[in-house]
Amino acid sequence: MLPYATAAGPLSIQPTSVARPVDADDVSTLLRWASQRGEPVVPRGAGTGMPGGNVGRGIALDLGACFRRMEPLDVFGRTVRVQPGVLAGDVDRAARLAGLFLPPLPSSADRCTIGGMVANNAAGARTFKYGAIRDWVQALDVVTADGSQYRLERGETVPPEFATLHTELEAELGNEPAGWPNVRKNSSGYALDRFLPEADAVQLVVGSEGTIAVVTSVTLMLAPVPQAQAVALIALRSLLDLPTLVQWAHDNSASACEFFGRRFLEVASLAHHVGAAGAVEGAEAALLLELDGDPDSVSAGADSLRRLARELGLHAIIGMEESDRRNLWSVRHAASPLIAESARSGLVSTQIIEDSVVPPEALGAYLSGVDEILHSADTDAVIFGHAGDANIHVNPLLDVGRSSWRERARALLKETVDLVADLGGTLSGEHGDGRLRAPFMEQIWGPKLAACFERTKNTLDPAGVLNPGVIIPCPHQDPLEGLWPQYSGAA
Ligand SMILES: Cc1cc2nc3c(=O)[nH]c(=O)nc-3n(C[C@H](O)[C@H](O)[C@H](O)COP(=O)(O)OP(=O)(O)OC[C@H]3O[C@@H](n4cnc5c(N)ncnc54)[C@H](O)[C@@H]3O)c2cc1C
Repeated sequence: MLPYATAAGPLSIQPTSVARPVDADDVSTLLRWASQRGEPVVPRGAGTGMPGGNVGRGIALDLGACFRRMEPLDVFGRTVRVQPGVLAGDVDRAARLAGLFLPPLPSSADRCTIGGMVANNAAGARTFKYGAIRDWVQALDVVTADGSQYRLERGETVPPEFATLHTELEAELGNEPAGWPNVRKNSSGYALDRFLPEADAVQLVVGSEGTIAVVTSVTLMLAPVPQAQAVALIALRSLLDLPTLVQWAHDNSASACEFFGRRFLEVASLAHHVGAAGAVEGAEAALLLELDGDPDSVSAGADSLRRLARELGLHAIIGMEESDRRNLWSVRHAASPLIAESARSGLVSTQIIEDSVVPPEALGAYLSGVDEILHSADTDAVIFGHAGDANIHVNPLLDVGRSSWRERARALLKETVDLVADLGGTLSGEHGDGRLRAPFMEQIWGPKLAACFERTKNTLDPAGVLNPGVIIPCPHQDPLEGLWPQYSGAA
């Protein structure tokens, strides 16, 4: 099987061929040829995406192999222009040498590309304060489905097909689409809520998962590294403590507000090198909060959080020095290798319901709803995520040795989709819809918005060559087509 047939997520589909373009002209030539023949093209960065947007029949278009140039930083303008195959972690490291950083850094930063981040509207723990990658993209070079090349800049005139689409959608939805989910972050559907107000084509391409354009260059904005930070790890006895602490994080502009469920903590505490994990052993859940800013405000914030934890009768460890902060953050990174390891014994952490986001006030209902679904399916799961943004990663541990595991996966997926639809959320806060979630678009978004997504795709890719089956489902598309047990991904 070609390496391009698999990715970090659970879906595997063999491509017919692989193309490794070296520049935008190559991408143009290939897309013109593919559009004329109706040959599908599946753009791909590093393959760390979960829901199968990076695998598919047709030509795997590898943008991670050659597009790896990073231009010198514009330190005063706080921007950097990179090709899409540059790794996110490399951008952040280069920025930090100049006292800057890339705020929405995902935990896969050392493996994933900037092109993949832009395509998925990826995010990270600090998205709580700083937004997702879409808020940090200033300009894009793209090749559209018919091979045309454009430079898209914020606030600039849009290319003709984007302008036509804007006029049509505006007539249908106005400037602010009614019924848009009230979520703090979103990587599902097309970002019509951002595109419509100012006809901003950059906003439409960000998060479009390689379905309307291939990104060949990205100009990123960077932020100054904060003067001071504090990190707090708080053990929770019950999920009832969650709303008070999350509200505190909102009110105090925390830079991160991360959630770890009980099973996650059990797994993390097995990693003996993670000192801080011991402090939350036995807890029902834990929250990790980060504060940043000037030293006085960070120190005042840490005191206020200490007081709140005392009032709630909770145990909080607060780290102000860099080594302590790193130790506390390491709890977040401890679980993935151990979860991947468990796959060898047949219990596979399965990323099929791993990225839902709900309105902030529905976080408790989502966590208890998921708990019920898992409980009635007699299935354990590792649960963690971005509590402040109500974007939770649920990774069911499925025993792939049992013949019924695929049916179990299908039932979990269906029940979770029903729950998210009831709560007014979407199925992706940061990983994208991919092939896995495309069949549920109408249920989640309703017929009107789903039809507008389809119109977006049809206007910008009339031959349907760019990543068919991603975001917009093909007729009778099976969300779990290509589900295979041998992968070892862990979000
Ligand atoms: C252990 C682990 C941790 C993770 N943590 C996070 C996290 O914290 N936050 C987060 O947001 N995600 C996370 N992810 C998911 C994933 O890393 C991100 O979504 C990442 O942005 C994908 O980048 P990639 O280069 O691997 O893209 P791929 O997986 O190769 O592709 C992803 C999508 O982008 C499209 N694409 C790729 N390049 C281009 C391009 N140049 N032009 C147009 N379309 C393109 C593909 O067609 C596909 O639809 C994690 C994944 C793993 C395995």
